[in-house]
Amino acid sequence: MNHPTKTCNKCKERKPIEEFHINRSSLDGLRNDCKRCRTTPSDGFYSVYYLPEHNYVGMTKHIKGRMQNHRKKGKTTEGYKIIGTYDTAIEAHYVETKMHLEGYEGFHYYETKGRKVG
Ligand SMILES: [Zn+2]
Repeated sequence: MNHPTKTCNKCKERKPIEEFHINRSSLDGLRNDCKRCRTTPSDGFYSVYYLPEHNYVGMTKHIKGRMQNHRKKGKTTEGYKIIGTYDTAIEAHYVETKMHLEGYEGFHYYETKGRKVG
């Protein structure tokens, strides 16, 4: 029997459909990029990140552009960490808020004067 497969539009590999996340708004009900490609941070989904130099946790859909932006505003992005990547802004925002409340590696939002930057 032929097992249904789909070609990932990022790595261009043909893979079994289990290798793709479900996306109800697409024609075939699956995402166009495979699960493995989605674990590699890039534009197109939401990343929650941490700037160790500034004890700053933020989220963005465009990690590279955001880092450039931080640098333009004089922030050090050296050694930044991606805490996680998420399909939706809601999930990413939840994690970001959790980090702000619970802290991350010693960082505690309410102990800093830093205002959240869009
Ligand atoms: Zn792929």
